[in-house]
Amino acid sequence: MGIIASGKYPEEIRGQHVPMITESQFYRVQAILDGRNPNFVKVKRNYDKTKFKLRRIVKCARCGIGLTAAWSKGRHASYAYYRCSGKCSNASIKKRDIDDAVIAMLKQITPTPECLDLLSVLLKKRIIIV
Ligand SMILES: [Zn+2]
Repeated sequence: MGIIASGKYPEEIRGQHVPMITESQFYRVQAILDGRNPNFVKVKRNYDKTKFKLRRIVKCARCGIGLTAAWSKGRHASYAYYRCSGKCSNASIKKRDIDDAVIAMLKQITPTPECLDLLSVLLKKRIIIV
């Protein structure tokens, strides 16, 4: 399904090649191999909405599609990644790298105390008018 795993590295990553089978097909085959009924297999959603708050908000730099998120299971641990869900084959990005970049960006646009005071005055005027 387009995931590359190596015994040398703990991380599994999405390859840049076209997957031979879909994720759904992969899990159906796994169910058959495990002796389960493949007709009741749901595609595993390998992300946690509460853990990946920037999912679909951060866009792919190549194609502009919102990034999706997933855990990659390594040999010793699981690793959180964002990746493009489009067909541009952009590489996966560690969740921590995206989080750090967004936090750095937010620090740059944090309003100054003077700006907050002006906003407060504006809001009070609006509240009085309404
Ligand atoms: Zn993309």
